[in-house]
Amino acid sequence: MLLFLKNPLSLSPFTPFQPIAAIATTQTAAETLSPLCQTLGATLHLPDSLTPLHQAQIYTGSLKEYLPILWNTHKTLIFCLATGAVVRLIAPLLENKAEDPAILVIDQKGKFVISLCSGHQGGADRLTQLIATGLDAIPIITGASASLGLLALDILGFPFGWRKGEGDWTGVSAAIANGKTVQVIQEAGSTLWQNHLPEDHSFYFGFPEHNQPIAFSGRIWISATKRKFASSSDFPKVQWHPRVLWVGIGCIRGTSRQLIETAIEEVFQRYHLATEAIAGLGTIEIKGDEIGLLEYIEQKQYPFKTFSAEVLKSINVPNPSTVVDQEVGTPSVAEASALCAAKTHFSSTENPVLIVPKQIIKSDSESGAVTVAIAQSEIEYTARKGQLWLVGIGPGKLEQITPAAATAIKQADVIIGYSLYLDLIKPLNRTGQIIESFPITQEQKRAQRAIELAQWGLTVAVISSGDCGIYGMGGLVLEELQKTGWDGYHPQVEIFAGITAIQAAAARVGAPLMHDFCTISLSDLLTPWEVIEKRLEAAAQADFVTGIYNPRSQTRTGQIVKAQEIYLKYRSPHTPIAIVRSAYRQDEHITLTTLEKMLDFPIDMLTTVIIGNSSTRDYKNWLITPRGYRS
Ligand code: SAH
Repeated sequence: MLLFLKNPLSLSPFTPFQPIAAIATTQTAAETLSPLCQTLGATLHLPDSLTPLHQAQIYTGSLKEYLPILWNTHKTLIFCLATGAVVRLIAPLLENKAEDPAILVIDQKGKFVISLCSGHQGGADRLTQLIATGLDAIPIITGASASLGLLALDILGFPFGWRKGEGDWTGVSAAIANGKTVQVIQEAGSTLWQNHLPEDHSFYFGFPEHNQPIAFSGRIWISATKRKFASSSDFPKVQWHPRVLWVGIGCIRGTSRQLIETAIEEVFQRYHLATEAIAGLGTIEIKGDEIGLLEYIEQKQYPFKTFSAEVLKSINVPNPSTVVDQEVGTPSVAEASALCAAKTHFSSTENPVLIVPKQIIKSDSESGAVTVAIAQSEIEYTARKGQLWLVGIGPGKLEQITPAAATAIKQADVIIGYSLYLDLIKPLNRTGQIIESFPITQEQKRAQRAIELAQWGLTVAVISSGDCGIYGMGGLVLEELQKTGWDGYHPQVEIFAGITAIQAAAARVGAPLMHDFCTISLSDLLTPWEVIEKRLEAAAQADFVTGIYNPRSQTRTGQIVKAQEIYLKYRSPHTPIAIVRSAYRQDEHITLTTLEKMLDFPIDMLTTVIIGNSSTRDYKNWLITPRGYRS
């Protein structure tokens, strides 16, 4: 027997904001923050003057003295005290928006959540939204892009792992916020983000026709090239660097980390390439233990791929060398490794291009030599661990979604689902979120697409109506994952339960599920009819209250007739029946009837039919199934 323990905090929509510290200085504030800390996986910090709460950290002395410790060790700080006091406290510690922690303020009653600092890059705006959803509070976010429903420029490339390059970020952001036309020239990286912009965005993609000059107020380059921007220019420019460059490397034994770094930087400079666009390094297996290389990789946190001479030999390169072949068994190390490393698994048709042929770099001051070649991959390396969230959105109305599921939907980079359900959750969508709908019949394609994006590094929410693990997408995604040889961890999977149709239907008509019940789907598209019939027979005979899912479609009309026939064999014709269509949706329709009359009423694919057991009764239009205790 395998004992399997799951750490409840190991994965949640809040992971990107952790470690989180929450700070309260009054008892009321401590009580407001305490449950929130559990949800967020945050530590609560209280002064020793307060009654200590379970799991809270106690500090002595003033908060002013204590704060610098939290500042340097946490990604996010949440204060439950007056905004003015927070501003004074943090003022001496603020450095810049790329490094400061996200700062949030919550009032003592938990009615308002304020994103105070590091709204974009620090994620304070996003976390404010998520907490406000959970607390049913009002989020206060004052950034211009948030109020305009625009995608913030400085986080545009985050989902894809792009790195920010040089430029006037404030200038271009201001142009976007003012609705001015900003040119986007994208030479590398995913263009998925372009498909999901607000309708009234002011980006202009590519170059205008010669005879149609356009006055731009800013420009965004998305490229592996490093551009030098003149200090005097008509308008501000910025550059994002998708990580598409793979450096193939060879070196003499004992070459230092320093020389390797210098060599790579020199080659990048020579070819006007951005080192920010480096995805990772590749080399031959025998160099896998080269100290200088390992130190460099460690320092830069690059992925490092090694290939056997056998594999490298099979790659066509422009500059093969017989000397190298004699030494290590392949005519190319750097060029072939660059090409091999750049081949990711995300597209079968992918064809990396060698953009820099091998360059040999030596130093006057030390022995050793480095050979560098660079290949560009079509798909960028995201450096992120993908996550797959299987989310049940409940029967329809937004209030029927659990706060955990709503948070997951808001936080995901991508939402995949059937268009009817995507429409239902529209109010939860975030600007810039990638939303992909698939027709109802394409469940498998939907699952495969979700897996592909999660394997690439994105956080993908796959949504189902009701519960995703009850005739939903949950099982399908896990089945498809299993087919890929999934290790159970990458991508990480988390499941967010939802209220399933039979619960929703039951809640609308009383308490019909008070004793043993089962659900049976009448859809014989994936299950042979004989199996369904056998289950109907068994459930009817065993007196289970039964929820019938997928009772009748335009083409499958006979199954519900057969089901009625079977139940009539074992139950009274007066057995109460609830026919609940579109529970909790705008077009909800409920019929209470009996087993013998049930087919006189419309039943379709949006309907759940509840068949009572032998003791279920209809009392003033409320279905009651006795709990069954002898009394
Ligand atoms: N995963 C969903 C079930 C999908 S199967 C869940 O857990 O609820 C689709 C079937 O669910 C429909 O044919 C219908 O029988 C039932 N169903 C889904 N939503 C419903 C709703 N709002 N009201 C009534 N029945 C519903």
